[in-house]
Amino acid sequence: MKILVIGGGGREHALVWKLKQSPRVEKIWCVPGNGGIDSEAECLPADPADVQELVALAKRLKPDLTIVGPELPLVNGIGDAFRGRGWPIVGPSQRAAQLEGSKIFSKQFLERHHIPTAQTYGAFENARDAVQALSGLKWPVVIKADGLCAGKGVFVAQDAASAEDFIHRVMDMNEVGAAGKRVLLEEGLEGEELSFIVVTDGQRYAPLVPTRDHKRAFDGNRGPNTGGMGAYSTDELLPAKLRQQIADSIVEPTMRGLAAEGILYQGFLYIGLMLTGAGPKVLEFNCRLGDPETQAIIVRMDFDLAQVLAELAAGALEPARLKWTSGASACVVLASGGYPGKFMSGRKIAGLTDTASVNGVQVFHAGTLRKGESIVTNGGRVLGVTSADDSLERALANVYEAAAKINFEGMHYRKDIGAETGRVHAAGD
Ligand code: AMP
Repeated sequence: MKILVIGGGGREHALVWKLKQSPRVEKIWCVPGNGGIDSEAECLPADPADVQELVALAKRLKPDLTIVGPELPLVNGIGDAFRGRGWPIVGPSQRAAQLEGSKIFSKQFLERHHIPTAQTYGAFENARDAVQALSGLKWPVVIKADGLCAGKGVFVAQDAASAEDFIHRVMDMNEVGAAGKRVLLEEGLEGEELSFIVVTDGQRYAPLVPTRDHKRAFDGNRGPNTGGMGAYSTDELLPAKLRQQIADSIVEPTMRGLAAEGILYQGFLYIGLMLTGAGPKVLEFNCRLGDPETQAIIVRMDFDLAQVLAELAAGALEPARLKWTSGASACVVLASGGYPGKFMSGRKIAGLTDTASVNGVQVFHAGTLRKGESIVTNGGRVLGVTSADDSLERALANVYEAAAKINFEGMHYRKDIGAETGRVHAAGD
């Protein structure tokens, strides 16, 4: 098999690393890739958001399978463009990608299919109406810009003044661009968050191992939101009863709803959940794998990813093939000085080869660039140091031992990934 991977972050490095282990895989290209992917696949410069450019590239390369990492190409319609030409691709259709591309579409879908989610207070096309709707609501109120805005479009407002300020910045000051043309107001939910990711061919689905990510920049969940500073996976995160409850009340109605509306979903569906006192409720859908959850998930895969994804793209997913190592895994993200604000770039990374001495650790590259013999920083999140082991404690020990060997100017990372390992209980447990 010849495989084309779209994207250039830690998620895509983990995908490439795993795909390469398959005896079925003869060649991997990655667009645009990064400094780490570069040593495992052929990196090609193209804009991963430009569907026409990717179609032209695939015409030339003729991959047997294309796997899409990030949301933008999916929301821009790469799934339809490839599938329409008979080219196997892992990634949902443009319509299905609206589950992530439009919070309002996604909320209406949830409501149509009676899937548990936060109560909606309305969708608004101008700031005045949105502000007016705030009166009489119970706080906190959650305000969501409708479109894609890389994690900057959601605000949990504790009072009217901060809610009005956010609505004004998003709708009048265009702080998130076109994504803020419409906003959704909804009820603030309380509970623990859990990521539940499934892979589906549109008919069958299989859940991936449960993960939890850490979004805040600093230890103790302090500081600004980031793309994700680390993640861990252990089976303890998801007791069997809760898993069943999520399958019955959320995943299956979602699958049935998509099918009933004739929306083809072939790929990964990420379901962000709040485990409330009244059961799990959907916070959001993503139409792709999360980053850095993917890194923690991939090191626990005990199956041939290339085979499973090729079958998925052919509409013949075999859920029983997805076998997982027992135990746990962890990924800690090493970030650039300043991230998630304005950050430094082009700093030389030292110690990467020293990590090879630490058992069972993979260092997945995100924002890196090869420069001659060196690897330099080239993004906010630079590396994802990842390990799977018999227990979460051992996986974390490996990861932190390896992280301590790496250094670049301004580097920072969280020291408390996986520390809040309290078992999650299903409502009524
Ligand atoms: P989203 O992109 O919709 O998942 O929102 C990003 C984050 O905002 C979530 O991970 C939650 O931490 C928070 N959030 C979103 N919706 C709600 C809600 N209805 N109640 C409380 N927190 C929420």
